[in-house]
Amino acid sequence: MARIALGGFHHETNTFATSTATYDDFVASDAWPGLCSGDDVFKLTHGINLAVSGFGDVAKKMGHELVGLVWCAAPPSGLVTNDAFEAIMELMLASIKDAENIDAVFMDLHGAMVSENFSDGDGEILNRIRTAVGPDVPIVVALDFHANISAKMCSMVDGLVVYRTYPHVDMKQTGERAANILNQIIIDTKKRHVELVSAPFLVPLTWQATTSEPAKGIYARLREFETDGVDAVSLAMGFPPADVFDCGPAAVASGSDIEMVKKAANGVMRLLVGCEKDFAGTLYSPDEALLRAKEIMAQGKLSGPVILADTQDNPGGGGDGDTTGLLKAMIKAGIDNSVIGIFAEPIAVQTATGVGTGNSFEMDFGARKRIYGDTPLHATFKVLALGSGSFMAEGPFYAGAKIDLGPMALLETGGVKIVVSSKKQQAADRAMFGHLGIDVNKCAILGLKSSVHFRADFEKIASDILIVEAPGVNTADPRKLNYRNIRPNVKRFPAS
Ligand SMILES: [Zn+2]
Repeated sequence: MARIALGGFHHETNTFATSTATYDDFVASDAWPGLCSGDDVFKLTHGINLAVSGFGDVAKKMGHELVGLVWCAAPPSGLVTNDAFEAIMELMLASIKDAENIDAVFMDLHGAMVSENFSDGDGEILNRIRTAVGPDVPIVVALDFHANISAKMCSMVDGLVVYRTYPHVDMKQTGERAANILNQIIIDTKKRHVELVSAPFLVPLTWQATTSEPAKGIYARLREFETDGVDAVSLAMGFPPADVFDCGPAAVASGSDIEMVKKAANGVMRLLVGCEKDFAGTLYSPDEALLRAKEIMAQGKLSGPVILADTQDNPGGGGDGDTTGLLKAMIKAGIDNSVIGIFAEPIAVQTATGVGTGNSFEMDFGARKRIYGDTPLHATFKVLALGSGSFMAEGPFYAGAKIDLGPMALLETGGVKIVVSSKKQQAADRAMFGHLGIDVNKCAILGLKSSVHFRADFEKIASDILIVEAPGVNTADPRKLNYRNIRPNVKRFPAS
């Protein structure tokens, strides 16, 4: 039995977004709990699809003594402020000091954090934890599928595991794998090696989904590389809208046999590179998407909505969740039973609450950040329903989570129904619509501010899915981004 400390500090940073992640953003709860420490780390994350909860369950069953450090997450955005980074690390390191006599550490991180002072935020977190616990205490880290993994991160840990699904339905499972790996390290006490191999090209978020090829086939084969002396192999697809040296996909293997570990990491990278030309698809302008949707609808009776993924304003990629490009195109198209969500528009929710259900108000809606190509929608909005914004998630991505989006409203303008919340959140769970009485199965057109995570709960009901390039900071095509810091010779797009 060992005394294992566990914590987490999650942020996915879009360096091309101007918003920041402040200390308050990490303290606030949303789909996941707000900043917690000590025993609350277990209590508040228990049963949720998170690596920290999976790790805790398995390590406890193994008979280990667990010490909660600090766990927190803020919605994806631009840089993490220096104040937030330092305040949270101070809490984290104080909790390690208070814990005393720690035998091992598990960290639940994202892997694509950039703070105002550190371009490799996660590398710096692990560096400080390594310094605090010393060279002999094993550290295992779980990272998001979108981690931009650095050599510094790898050099600080004894084991590294990455989610294997996008939508991330295996976050909890990844924590369980991490617990088994750390347990093995504690038992055999052999020195571990972690090998990193970075990819020569970026893969746009929308083509990374593991529900379709080529990613589906690649991830199905990862286990083949976990042979004797190799604890874990991982493939992170990277988070493209991040202008950092280590941006992009990376294969990582860890274990006690250096030669086998190197062979495994290189083997996984060869697998990815061999599929380069298969990472491809169509991006539609908003008007083109609506035209295509009409063509699909004209082909016959559909079993469910045509889903339009408003990927560039996806809050899960650092978007603000309030750009109006797709909404305006939906109004112009005039298709009955069109619904879009979720807009983060607290002023609209407040006004709607003030006038009450059944009444109307006029306002400049959305586009608060005035990003390139985006303008507010000036219109009259009818209030169809109001909600508390507090409800249980139903789909597999937010599984087990008690979602808190602040007061919500269902508005209607120009024949389009709009789901509006007070806090920004990716539209990746049908309960977000059901909360305001919308049955998404019955929609003709459903606009979702999400890139891929929506597929976990919506793909099964969709007649078709079209990816839309409307205004937003989560740029779908990395060739349109002006990188300055990425390592040289990385192709911005897979070669076809
Ligand atoms: Zn991710």
